[in-house]
Amino acid sequence: MRILVTGAAGFLGSHLTDRILAEGHSVIGMDNLITGSLDNIQHLDGESRFEFVEHDVTRYIDLEGQLDGIFHFASPASPVDYLELPIQTLKVGALGTHNALGLAKEKSARILLASTSEVYGDPLVHPQPESYWGNVNPIGPRGVYDEAKRFAEAITMAYQRFHGVDTRIVRIFNTYGPRMRPNDGRVVSNFIVQSLLGEPITVYGDGSQSRSFCFVSDLIDGIWRLFQSDQLTPVNIGNPGEYTILQLAEIILSTIESGTEIRRLPLPTDDPKVRRPEIGLARSVLGWEPKVDLEEGLERTIAYFAELQSRGLLASPPVLTD
Ligand code: UDP
Repeated sequence: MRILVTGAAGFLGSHLTDRILAEGHSVIGMDNLITGSLDNIQHLDGESRFEFVEHDVTRYIDLEGQLDGIFHFASPASPVDYLELPIQTLKVGALGTHNALGLAKEKSARILLASTSEVYGDPLVHPQPESYWGNVNPIGPRGVYDEAKRFAEAITMAYQRFHGVDTRIVRIFNTYGPRMRPNDGRVVSNFIVQSLLGEPITVYGDGSQSRSFCFVSDLIDGIWRLFQSDQLTPVNIGNPGEYTILQLAEIILSTIESGTEIRRLPLPTDDPKVRRPEIGLARSVLGWEPKVDLEEGLERTIAYFAELQSRGLLASPPVLTD
């Protein structure tokens, strides 16, 4: 197959590109590099089945030749990023998804949309099944990402129903692993980078809010299975192992043993209090469940950041201040 990955220079897009190439297919990787980095795909230099196109998918996507599949992964995804890039985030979720769907229709290609657990907002149902409609503040600071992805899901389902486009939607829960940017701003990279630098770990609020962390290889495996399946409605992919942010801080502090302390900062507006995927659908339809536990996944992620540190590439990560 010849497959387009939008956001191919990003954390997930680059891992997905590696997987598609390993399956024997060809990939056109597209990215405008506003949050992605060529470092993530540098190892593909010289790979004849990979081609990189620098392009902003909010503008018309013009591709010659046959296309069998599209993975639409382009979007800022860290709260620090989408709060700094609110208009771009709304545009890539809306106009970018519209363009990707138009291309899928034109080429008769299957398209998989990267959606998010943020469509559930600050959830009032726990854990979150795909049938839950969510609790999102449309005009709050996080609304730019949440509503963009909710619109992206809506237009994807409309293209499926009204144009017969072959679509899939994955709702991605918190994911971590190598190739997260050290300055990404999300909790796993922040805590690891801060510990490695011997700086205090920044816990927002009282740290009682929870998240469920999925290692990147597990996530990519679930996405690849979904792409090949006949499942037309959204599927949660995430690891149901749920931890409070304070627990995560303690695990990372005891693994790295840097002797740093916890520094408390205010809880950001609309920060979800709990989050855990209900993965019964992924289990039954995709035969998928995560395999890498938090301890093992953190070890691999810490090794990645330690290597960056040895090359002098770690600096204090950004923290969210409303
Ligand atoms: N968080 C934190 N310190 C940080 C970064 C994040 O305490 O330096 C908290 C944040 O308030 C949230 C959780 O960690 O409750 C996960 O945040 P992240 O930005 O990783 O992703 P989210 O799940 O909120 O999209």
